[in-house]
Amino acid sequence: KEEALVVSFGEMLIDFVPTASGVSLAEAPGFLKAPGGAPANVAIAVTRLGGRAAFVGKLGDDEFGRMLASILQQNGVVDSGIVFDSGARTALAFVTLRADGEREFMFYRNPSADMLLTEAELDRDLISRAAIFHYGSISLITEPCRSAHLRAMEIAKEAGALLSYDPNLRLPLWPSPEEARDQIMSIWDQADIIKVSDVELEFLTGENSVEDDVAMKLWRPTLKLLLITLGDKGCKYYTKDFRGMVESIQVKAVDTTGAGDAFVGAMLRRIVTDQSALQDEKKLREILRFANACGAITTTKKGAIPALPNEAEAQEFLQR
Ligand code: ADP
Repeated sequence: KEEALVVSFGEMLIDFVPTASGVSLAEAPGFLKAPGGAPANVAIAVTRLGGRAAFVGKLGDDEFGRMLASILQQNGVVDSGIVFDSGARTALAFVTLRADGEREFMFYRNPSADMLLTEAELDRDLISRAAIFHYGSISLITEPCRSAHLRAMEIAKEAGALLSYDPNLRLPLWPSPEEARDQIMSIWDQADIIKVSDVELEFLTGENSVEDDVAMKLWRPTLKLLLITLGDKGCKYYTKDFRGMVESIQVKAVDTTGAGDAFVGAMLRRIVTDQSALQDEKKLREILRFANACGAITTTKKGAIPALPNEAEAQEFLQR
């Protein structure tokens, strides 16, 4: 029997990572090309752990777009949902940690190919085959990909998929914080599973705390699972019937890029094969221990995609 499919929707781009740390973007001596984009990272996190995943999104018909498509293919991600735009370029991001600790971002998106995906270009057949349909919020920022995103959610839901949402706030991309909050919350009630980080919880609720009463402001009766990730501390989970926390495993982190995507991919990879975990606290805690481990492993290596663990690495890590 074929494994159930996770379909991940949204952006894929190239992160240009400075070859020196603690310098401003203008002072960077050079850059390394790192494939990224949260939805694409999640799809690869799933396949690396032995699951089945597809990516739906648009790439530029340029050197970068072809490089990204081949990375998805090499990782066994179903690629029939990828559309190439001959008139637009693949999104690029320059992200650096300056000496003062501030993160500096610069994006090539004026507009980039991912923002130009249309409803008509959606691979409806592929999306209809999703057991879980996963997405972020960057694709809500502009048309036409906003309409494509909303339509894809509808197609997946009508076909009976679970909807999984990681808003993955990238504040510098939004016109304003208010706009980001409104748009992120506008699709809140459609999701079955939502994962936010502690930083996003504070941003969305306006409260400087990750206590349960604050998390509950993001709870909806329509939700099956709400997750709050807490970096090196692990994660909290909330369902209609139970709630709790699962601690992460301590590691020496060198680069936290992709930890959240590794966490989501690992969690979806397990839930897609056993949805009863959403009603079974013991099973769910076991899955979150696994997801925490995959997040933790990803922080011990540079980059996002190269750092995502396979099943054997994850199991070995859990048995230490
Ligand atoms: P995001 O990347 O979305 O900000 P987090 O940083 O909260 O997400 O990381 C996601 C998950 O990865 C955490 O819930 C935790 O399980 C694991 N993780 C992240 N950083 C560390 C760390 N330094 N040590 C151990 N586990 C970590």
